[in-house]
Amino acid sequence: MTNDEVLKAYEETHALLKGHFRLSSGRHSDRYLQSALVMQFPATAEKLCGALAGKIKSLNPQVIVSPAMGGLFVGHELARALKLRHIFTERNKDNDAMELRRGFTVEKGEKFFAVEDIITTGKSVKESIQVVRGLGGEPVGVGCLIDRSGGADKVFDIPVRALATLKVESWEEKDCPLCKQGLPVVKPGSRAKF
Ligand SMILES: [Zn+2]
Repeated sequence: MTNDEVLKAYEETHALLKGHFRLSSGRHSDRYLQSALVMQFPATAEKLCGALAGKIKSLNPQVIVSPAMGGLFVGHELARALKLRHIFTERNKDNDAMELRRGFTVEKGEKFFAVEDIITTGKSVKESIQVVRGLGGEPVGVGCLIDRSGGADKVFDIPVRALATLKVESWEEKDCPLCKQGLPVVKPGSRAKF
């Protein structure tokens, strides 16, 4: 799939909106991304993750790892496409630490690929990698459907595979050009990925 085809799939399912948004960080932006809206359609999820699978096959992972919640569906569909298993890490409600729970295990030296829906700062998926690495797993790469970090390959020391990239600008309210144009601002229904 081309970059435009991926973004089109997001736009068609309203997972990528253009407008004037107030993000959870308080910053304003002209784009809003919510992967759950594209992933609610299994056929589209299968297509996107199948395309991503083609980009990571040569890294030969043995298991797919993702951070909950954002990475769950992409991790599962990617594992399906590569005929691997998928495990996920989740945050401990008490101390916010990322953990591998539910009886999931990794073998010593088992090669894993870590995946997230959107990479913004890469914080969650980076913590997943640390956890699984700490248990003996060997990361062969990290990826996402959309890299909106401005270059995830600068954030990680392992190979990065993004299905698409998107440059998203955001501003402090006082500097927002859309506010200056007098456009009404919208707060999206759920925590935005910005
Ligand atoms: Zn604004």
